[in-house]
Amino acid sequence: MKPLGPIPPGYEAVDGVLAIDGVPVARLIDEAGGTPLFVYSANLIRARVAALRHAMPERLGLHYAVKANPFGPILHLLSQLVDGFDIASGGELGFVQEVGIDPAWVSFAGPGKRDSELEAAIAAGVTINLESENEAGRALAIAERLAVTPRLAVRVNPDFDLKGSGMKMGGGAKPFGLDAERVPALVRQVLAAGADWQGFHIFAGSQALDPAAIIAAQAQSLDLAARLASEIGARPPRCNLGGGFGIPYFPGEQALDLAPIGAALAERFAALPAELEGTAFCLELGRYLVGEAGVYLTRIVDRKLSHGEVFLVTDGGLHHQLAASGNFGTVVRRNYPVAIATRFDAPVEEEASIVGCLCTPLDRLADKAGFPRAEPGDVVAVFCAGAYGASASPAAFLGQGPAREILV
Ligand SMILES: *Cc1c(COP(=O)(O)O)cnc(C)c1O
Repeated sequence: MKPLGPIPPGYEAVDGVLAIDGVPVARLIDEAGGTPLFVYSANLIRARVAALRHAMPERLGLHYAVKANPFGPILHLLSQLVDGFDIASGGELGFVQEVGIDPAWVSFAGPGKRDSELEAAIAAGVTINLESENEAGRALAIAERLAVTPRLAVRVNPDFDLKGSGMKMGGGAKPFGLDAERVPALVRQVLAAGADWQGFHIFAGSQALDPAAIIAAQAQSLDLAARLASEIGARPPRCNLGGGFGIPYFPGEQALDLAPIGAALAERFAALPAELEGTAFCLELGRYLVGEAGVYLTRIVDRKLSHGEVFLVTDGGLHHQLAASGNFGTVVRRNYPVAIATRFDAPVEEEASIVGCLCTPLDRLADKAGFPRAEPGDVVAVFCAGAYGASASPAAFLGQGPAREILV
């Protein structure tokens, strides 16, 4: 039998059935109108933000990376909990505007911003994290045409990476940001053009579970920001230190210990060089805020045997949960935390594979893992589904369409 990933804390059985915020999944599915369904827990998101606030220095702002989950009710909830939003497209600008988030709270990173996206963001007063000299030129020209003072920060492609991270976004040749040695010249140009220079954006990677790696990357980010500021001869109003806080998805992975990260940052903040004394620092986190607060529920429609192996076939699949199927940036397929939600506290009785309804061998939600015996009608829960699920999966594939989503 292959192991399953660890089920995140905060989920329990009520009368044998998985409950989310105390409500059994059968009721949630009824309320939502059926499966497949993403359920997000507001209480778990609140608890996660509170834990971060408790562990991190007060001076550190928390931003939400909308890319992780742009579901409107989640954006609305987080607008009451965090200090800023990071978007990565004109589409995401539309999402934050729809829920009434103040554009002054929003920054816009991402390569390949079109003129139309720059114009909408600059007109709204969003901070642009410039990804290149070309983009800076276009942003300045658009602002001049609109007769507004643009808020511009420079995204730095750091000269280091986040060790052990699932997705490296710094160190070496990258399509993101400006190589560090080219940053001072661009900042001088932005200042000379009369723009409102907002500082630096330094994002080194994602999905790290080793506090030492995050501490090292943050220390290197602070050193880099200080070095750039001193070379430019201007103090950055803001510095986005990136994020990279990971969550355990796979067997053997452990939750990130926040305490040493907060302690190390507090120590650095207490001894900042003069260039950074007045700088406002923030983290931008996606999956860490919402990933473990989401569960994907899909109903078993068939149970079959092939060459002695049990297959539980569901009404969902990789078109909603590409990451759980192992097809979103993983090299070796491993099992996510998956359970039979309608037999949540029953013992393991058999080895089974849980597959989706798509006609492709890629569509596998759990591979040869141990489960209680499940039948058609039972509901499967895929955990860690709150980030990079619904919006990061090919919902149109095979004409299936999107899953339902609710925030409880
Ligand atoms: C993807 C991304 C994030 C969010 O990453 P998580 O791993 O979900 O925290 C934050 N900032 C930038 C620039 C990103 O590209």
